[in-house]
Amino acid sequence: MDPKVSIVRAGRYDPEEIFFAVRRAVDLLGGISDYVKKDEKILLKPNVLSAKPPESGIDTHPEVLRAVARLVREEGAEVVVGDSPGGFYFKESDSTYEAAGIKKVCKEEGLRLVAFDKARNVNGIPVAAVVKEVDGVISIPKMKTHSLTTITGAVKNSYGLAVGLYKAHCHFKAPRPAEFARYVVDVFECAVPRLVVMDGVVAMEGDGPAAGRLRQAGLILASNDCVACDAVFAALIGLSPLSIETTEEAYKRKLGEPDLSRIKVLGMDLREARLHNFKLPKTSILVRMPKPILKLLLGRIKFWPLIDDSACKKCQVCAKSCPAACITITEDGSDIDYEKCVSCFCCMELCPHNAISMKRSLLARLLGG
Ligand code: SF4
Ligand code: SF4
Repeated sequence: MDPKVSIVRAGRYDPEEIFFAVRRAVDLLGGISDYVKKDEKILLKPNVLSAKPPESGIDTHPEVLRAVARLVREEGAEVVVGDSPGGFYFKESDSTYEAAGIKKVCKEEGLRLVAFDKARNVNGIPVAAVVKEVDGVISIPKMKTHSLTTITGAVKNSYGLAVGLYKAHCHFKAPRPAEFARYVVDVFECAVPRLVVMDGVVAMEGDGPAAGRLRQAGLILASNDCVACDAVFAALIGLSPLSIETTEEAYKRKLGEPDLSRIKVLGMDLREARLHNFKLPKTSILVRMPKPILKLLLGRIKFWPLIDDSACKKCQVCAKSCPAACITITEDGSDIDYEKCVSCFCCMELCPHNAISMKRSLLARLLGG
């Protein structure tokens, strides 16, 4: 199938407006009947990173999920919804779904919401068992930046199909973006979604995926190709698609099309939808810098997490989620063993009280990271 990405305006999370925008975005791709057949069972995979309310802009907004679910059901297909929240939250998916507004929408729409607590081995990866029960997956990512992968779009959203601590182990084994991208694409390859609908109504820029700044982007993107969708997202924020490591890795494995000249862009054109001055994560200098120069300077470009004890509520989420087990939180304060820290920033991503910030070495600051 030729790669197509549609771009449609949606100004706010009003149920009618979102449904209209999602339907139009999918219609531009040929209509939902091109992607879903009667009596099929379809897994909708939103991005539910942590237990934050919809207005935090961290998770896929429940109204976008509702709109996609309605479209799929119009075709007579059954909908199943699920994700594996980040870090320690995977053990508390029910309360995470509740806080993110996902549970409420599933209840109102009568959708089956599943916890990813059972796994099936796919190519050595513990993938949520439900993936093997369904006929196909529709990915519903959030338009966000990511401190490790620069953006967290359609390909990265599939990483949540892996169950339990597997994701944290990969962060530990692969602290650098290129290595980590290989693990992300390994999971993506297990069940490539047949359709993606990206929630870019309110996007996140800066130090995403949780500690960034909200940005009213007013967009819904849809595509029959997750790699093409990420390529268009990258272009909208002024990046070359192949500078995104997950896009490059997925392209190398022939899992999608990142070349903008081969992608049919429908609805709005790229220039009209462009998000000017979109702030990237501080760490993005690592992917923007030419590789030989990076190799020379790598030891001196450093990023590390710092806990603000005055904001810390001692909830232990960071300590329980840290793949290097290097955080200690006591009543007297916090401590990070920087000898062991792999700078994955899972702690910053998951801290529910924004008590962790990113610090940079002098050279990283001078280079604009
Ligand atoms: S730094 Fe954040 S996640 Fe860690 S204990 Fe404090 S409040 Fe909880
Ligand atoms: S302290 Fe934070 S950045 Fe360092 S390894 Fe642990 S979770 Fe990752």
